[in-house]
Amino acid sequence: MSDNLFALVRERVTDPQKLFIETNDGRRFTYEDMLALSARLAHALKARGVEVGDRVAVQVDKSPEAIMLFLACLRVGAIYLPLNTAYTLTELEYFIGDAEPRVVVASPKAGAALGELCARLGVAATETLGTGGDGSLMELAAGQPAEFADVARGKDDLAAILYTSGTTGRSKGAMLSHWNLASNALTLKDFWRFTADDVLLHALPIFHTHGLFVATNTILMANASMLFLPKLDADEMMRLMPRATCMMGVPTFYVRLLQEPRLNRETTSHMRLFVSGSAPLLADTHRAWSERTGHAILERYGMTETNMNTSNPYEGERVPGTVGFPLPGVELRVVDPETGARLPDGEVGMIEVKGPNVFKGYWRMPEKTAAEFRPDGFFITGDLGKVDQRGYVHIVGRGKDLVITGGYNVYPKEVETEIDAIPGVVESAVIGVPHPDFGEGVTAVVVVPKGSALTEKDVVARLDGRLAKFKQPKRVMIVDDLPRNTMGKVQKNVLREQYKGLYG
Ligand code: ATP
Ligand code: MG
Repeated sequence: MSDNLFALVRERVTDPQKLFIETNDGRRFTYEDMLALSARLAHALKARGVEVGDRVAVQVDKSPEAIMLFLACLRVGAIYLPLNTAYTLTELEYFIGDAEPRVVVASPKAGAALGELCARLGVAATETLGTGGDGSLMELAAGQPAEFADVARGKDDLAAILYTSGTTGRSKGAMLSHWNLASNALTLKDFWRFTADDVLLHALPIFHTHGLFVATNTILMANASMLFLPKLDADEMMRLMPRATCMMGVPTFYVRLLQEPRLNRETTSHMRLFVSGSAPLLADTHRAWSERTGHAILERYGMTETNMNTSNPYEGERVPGTVGFPLPGVELRVVDPETGARLPDGEVGMIEVKGPNVFKGYWRMPEKTAAEFRPDGFFITGDLGKVDQRGYVHIVGRGKDLVITGGYNVYPKEVETEIDAIPGVVESAVIGVPHPDFGEGVTAVVVVPKGSALTEKDVVARLDGRLAKFKQPKRVMIVDDLPRNTMGKVQKNVLREQYKGLYG
């Protein structure tokens, strides 16, 4: 028997006439279409010389065909390598040079420039794929048979290389096996109770683990359906919501939808599940959502390298500000970052995980891979957190964002929580900025609504007596917005760069 993820996908197509993906402009693909189109694309890849183990790099705008291309790669035994559509040519040079793909698939408008780059880097073939079923790859696929003999794969064989978001440094290629993806998809389908009756409102990008694996693979395991939107668009989301049963989003989706007057109990009454992840969901957003809609958002925690690790319960209390319990099959522990010794519940330390969901290492970075795994197989996530008395996991922030000031450790989340509680504060980011006396100075970047009169002094005064002196910000910068990437993650590296000269 083959452990190809696609074998599992195929086996679970109980109703071929079932809708798989419909786009917001009305293009429909059933499961039967999915089987045929992914077969045609698999033949097209073979025609371009793609063999088992070859990388297929893809930088295209979101479309059902791009999902079919991912499935085609599985069928051929190739390694799917999606790239963020925001990457510029200079950035692509690094990714393509690093990944050495056999074929690069670009959007039609970028095809020529990317073709030149590929020729220079020695990549033989470039193809294009548009968002309306157009492009050279689709032309090549059109004449191919609708059947394809899927290549057998083992559990540990690679299915994809996904680059991390690059929030803390240069993106790393995470090597994910067929079983990494399959095991997590099966777990999520059961844990979140997905069935063939589900229709997922899908407005996430599909170059990232959230929209590609968490959403799409879970839907495939359930023979369920998706409504595709090109991107976050509150108006379109409200229009399509009546047809959906569930949604997966990053926190920004929820913040934005809360500004929609049409969002209420009635317009969400048929929804059974709202999932949030990829960045911390403010407890305030969670509460506001519950009040407006009657739905408790289910927050979960994962990474490109590990798929999903923890989730709030489907039944049972979904606690705001927590990411729930380790998923079935996932082991999680909190350790002292220096010694690796396990910490008792309630103490903050490094989160480490182990399970079938955890990746095979970083592409062409053996030292980095070795450094991030413990001898007993646990992966060091780089996230700081704790497990509370009831077993809920709390993420406190990134290890790299820890501020060390005058020899004391300051967890930004603790300071941010206090600042966010000040009336008139929208949100905040606390960073460490080089300081001549303290090493790093605790620095707060605080968002207030336009026209607000809240000042640095006000914030400092409010924190006095609430936080130990060493945790209090040395400076408070009042701003309109925090810099965020496409997944809604606050880019603290950008802030650190911006304010690096603050203390001289
Ligand atoms: P890089 O590793 O390149 O710096 P990145 O870690 O942001 O980028 P991803 O793999 O997209 O790249 O994101 C995983 C990270 O996102 C986790 O390590 C964690 O810090 C954060 N994250 C995901 N879900 C949550 C959540 N529910 N709450 C808080 N943080 C989360
Ligand atoms: Mg990371």
